[in-house]
Amino acid sequence: MPHDPYKALYLHLPFCVRRCGYCDFATEAVPADDARIDAYVEDLALQIRRKAREGELAAVETVYLGGGTPSHVGSSRLSMLLYTLSLSMHLTPEVECTMEANPESLTGNMVRDVWALGVNRLSIGVQSFDDDVLSVLGRAHSADDARRAVEAARERFDNVSVDLMCGIPGQSGKSFEASVREAVELGATHVSVYPLTIEPHTPFHRAVMRGQMPEPDDDAEAAHMEIASRVLAEADFARYEVASYALPGRECRHNIAYWTGRPYLGLGRSAATMTQNAERRMRVQDGRVTDDLDARQTAAEDLMLGMRMTCGVSETQVERASALLPKALATFASLEAQGLVVREDGRFKPTERGWLCGNELYGALFDLAP
Ligand code: SF4
Repeated sequence: MPHDPYKALYLHLPFCVRRCGYCDFATEAVPADDARIDAYVEDLALQIRRKAREGELAAVETVYLGGGTPSHVGSSRLSMLLYTLSLSMHLTPEVECTMEANPESLTGNMVRDVWALGVNRLSIGVQSFDDDVLSVLGRAHSADDARRAVEAARERFDNVSVDLMCGIPGQSGKSFEASVREAVELGATHVSVYPLTIEPHTPFHRAVMRGQMPEPDDDAEAAHMEIASRVLAEADFARYEVASYALPGRECRHNIAYWTGRPYLGLGRSAATMTQNAERRMRVQDGRVTDDLDARQTAAEDLMLGMRMTCGVSETQVERASALLPKALATFASLEAQGLVVREDGRFKPTERGWLCGNELYGALFDLAP
């Protein structure tokens, strides 16, 4: 269908050194020298060239190499991919180009290589700086590996994100707080905090079912989220999304594109693409349509997505949406009365309670155009 230009490009690298016990991402454990990785990366490079020829990359403003573990594929394959990318689109410093990396495979040389080839933001999967917590998670790195990786990243990059997990069995508030503090001290400019979730068909799920692992504790998780919020606020980080904190100007523009309904192109196995025009929004994954929304559903989804962000949605956006969703203003008034949303500075913003009662908040907006 004729569609609005893609603003964000996602490249998926579905390989890891081993699988973590809680992971349900599209990835597989493959040795770094496996020929399957060569074939995959070559194919990805061909897809990038093809999309560039079709003019699909001309308006891309953010690029994200995610996984899996992009750093696991090694410097030489990453260099090939990034070189292809720089020949295929305007990979200027204004384009945010993020690469995910894990501590066990991010080396000083790789940092220098990917920086020289246009990556300007690294997102490091640290999860914790506590060896006991890392071993519960089954991660392939130690706390010292994580420290080295963030330090190596900071030698070239002034935009480094650290992912941390909370609510892990056996993880004390003290341990979590120490990890948040360490991320700040090591110079992270962005921190994402995710609670452990037990996904079906994972080893963690089986362990919980057999009674070998406790279920995540909601109270511990909420306490950890509060710790993150307090410690990061003290260090001048702003919480701009339910799970994301950044120093001023260091917000992840790529993720913001997802939360503000900007079209994105995903290349690689299981990567989702969102294509849209004024009448329709579609998401496609591995050739399968996963979402097909009309203009009303799209407007409702945009309001829902906006509620993930601290800044919420503008009154103007809600008024515009009202043309398609006559109950939109009344719904926001009711959410405000329930304390799930506040109206300030010309915007409707989610409250802390709104995020805690996410089902009610998002459910009410979804119901505008089921
Ligand atoms: S490193 Fe990340 S993508 Fe890979 S198995 Fe672990 S959680 Fe999953």
